[in-house]
Amino acid sequence: MDGSAYPDLLAPLDLGRTVLRNRVLMGSMHTRIETRDQPVRRLAAFYAERARGGAALIVTGGCSPNEEGRVEPGAPCLTTPEQALAHHRPVTQAVHDEGGKILLQLMHAGRNAKHDALVGVSSAPSPLSRRPPRVLSGEEVERTVEDFARCAALAETAGYDGIEIMGTEGLLAHQFVAPRTNDRQDDWGGTPHKRRRFAVEVVRRIRERTGPSFLISYRLSVLDLIDGGSTSEEVIALARAVEAAGADLLNTGIGWHESIVPTIAYPVPRGAFRFAFARLKAAVTLPVVASNRINTPELAQRILAAGEADLVSMARPLLADPHFVAKVAAGRPETINTCIACNQACLDNAFGDGLTSCLVNPKACREIEFAHRPADRADRAERIAVVGGGPAGMAAALHAAERGHRVTLFEAQDRLGGQLNLALRIPGKQEFHETLRYFREQLRRHGVEVRLNSAVDAGTLRHGAFDRVVVATGTRPRRPDLPGIERADVISYVDLLTGKARAGRRVAVIGAGGVAFDVAEFLTSAHGADQPQTVPEFFREWGVDTAPGSRTGLTQMQIAPPPHEVTLLQRSPGRVGERLGRSTGWIHRSRLRRRGVRLLSGCVYAGIDDRGLHIVTDGRASLLEVDTVVICAGQDAHRPLADELQADGMRVDVIGGARMSQDIDAMRSIYEGARLAYGI
Ligand code: SF4
Repeated sequence: MDGSAYPDLLAPLDLGRTVLRNRVLMGSMHTRIETRDQPVRRLAAFYAERARGGAALIVTGGCSPNEEGRVEPGAPCLTTPEQALAHHRPVTQAVHDEGGKILLQLMHAGRNAKHDALVGVSSAPSPLSRRPPRVLSGEEVERTVEDFARCAALAETAGYDGIEIMGTEGLLAHQFVAPRTNDRQDDWGGTPHKRRRFAVEVVRRIRERTGPSFLISYRLSVLDLIDGGSTSEEVIALARAVEAAGADLLNTGIGWHESIVPTIAYPVPRGAFRFAFARLKAAVTLPVVASNRINTPELAQRILAAGEADLVSMARPLLADPHFVAKVAAGRPETINTCIACNQACLDNAFGDGLTSCLVNPKACREIEFAHRPADRADRAERIAVVGGGPAGMAAALHAAERGHRVTLFEAQDRLGGQLNLALRIPGKQEFHETLRYFREQLRRHGVEVRLNSAVDAGTLRHGAFDRVVVATGTRPRRPDLPGIERADVISYVDLLTGKARAGRRVAVIGAGGVAFDVAEFLTSAHGADQPQTVPEFFREWGVDTAPGSRTGLTQMQIAPPPHEVTLLQRSPGRVGERLGRSTGWIHRSRLRRRGVRLLSGCVYAGIDDRGLHIVTDGRASLLEVDTVVICAGQDAHRPLADELQADGMRVDVIGGARMSQDIDAMRSIYEGARLAYGI
């Protein structure tokens, strides 16, 4: 196959001021690279890799045009020519050297800023920052517009091909537009026309201050999913107004950060919000960029071919695979490392204080550490046995083979994937099929000898002429010591998810970590496991209103009756599910609450008998009358092979859950596999 299966995706786009080489825009992502050592070198490497991989137009992470607009202390801000030359010029140069184009995103956080000098359009605090903003006076609004224009001019000095004005997610420009956050009665509020004025003035003044080839993209919200948002008519009016003021491109976004509907995480079906950007595209003449949960070339091609947009924005998919476009163009889409929308290594870090990276591609934002280097000389290539075909083992095998080592991968089961095969059973986690497809394909292409149904022992490895053994044998579920634990109605999550055991109608789940929440999703999902929700099912469950006249985009949520009554219990006190991901934990908690799942913390488990599970909470004994108890009480490292080999004096590396079972997940497993392989 060649790239001809994706003609619209690979077609150039003439924007008048410049021509883009294809229809893929890398959307803006907050990376926090700027807080690490050598930030400029790292940023240049990060963006250059995406340009080398074929992205036509890259939009940087948000950069504030003034101090008060920074999203947090230390976040990017561009106010001087010195910064433009020292911090930005090397980045734009690196992207241009790879044939790409790059826009600086101008993002003023407004009331969402996480520092004390925050400002707002009105006085209401953001539910995210909870800090009361200082309300901008009319003069200060004027000055802020001027700051945007100055910042854009500096961006041009730095070599950017243009800028993008961030007008979604409830940030300052969006705050001006929406009645929810703009109760002003001066020149900047009071009517839809005046609420649009800030956006229009910013675009107009940037156009005045920059050259004829300088691009202006305006990113606007096409569906607010919140009380006090904009109607579709107002969104279109805003788009036309910024076009008239001089914008060249309309990028899109869905929802506010505080919306109560998930917009990009894996429970959102792929392409769910096509209707919203397609509605804008049908009403305007400027090129429109599609966004939100578009992660495959097939879907991108369908959207473009249907005329629903002119470009497709992919931010996380290009974190996951910077060479997405090049692989499509070369006719190798099956080798794309697909973003699974987990948010674990990207948004969860960005919303916390970590460095953004990617669960399926730990090299993302670590391009310098993982700079590709072959195993130095052919005679340095080692013969490596990797034992265990779960995520850690597959990653170690693939990256070692990529570097030129000769790798044999042993897997005891009849298929690769390990715990990923369990994750596939969780409603919404079917994106892991893509990860398995990627590993299978790449292991084959890089010549890894995969031996399935091979429960290899130390003797075989000893005589197998391997220079080194990597043990990635994972974990085994922990069985707590509890009266009644041996009963037939007490089952492990593994047996439940593999179908070896079934649950009765009333179920207690012991444990409240990620696995337990997954089990609760599995048990309470009415549409069944093994398949993602359809878009209409998702809209019904989350109450998404697609009517153009809606100011909220919301309607009554409809809850399908869950097939099981579930109680989730945790031993520690405090909120159940506290340690779930920042960007997805609320989705689980909200959905399970609506499905009637009881969440109990501070539980002491006294035993299980014919009547159910006996617990003690706050010193009081009680009985949960349940038919089945599912144990999700953690895992223990499974490493007898490693211990035996080490005792024999063999060179052994232990990775993933076999090294440390606590908090093990696919993210750490894949990272450890890649890290180890790059050190060999
Ligand atoms: Fe996608 Fe998950 Fe990687 Fe983020 S961490 S880019 S959501 S695969």
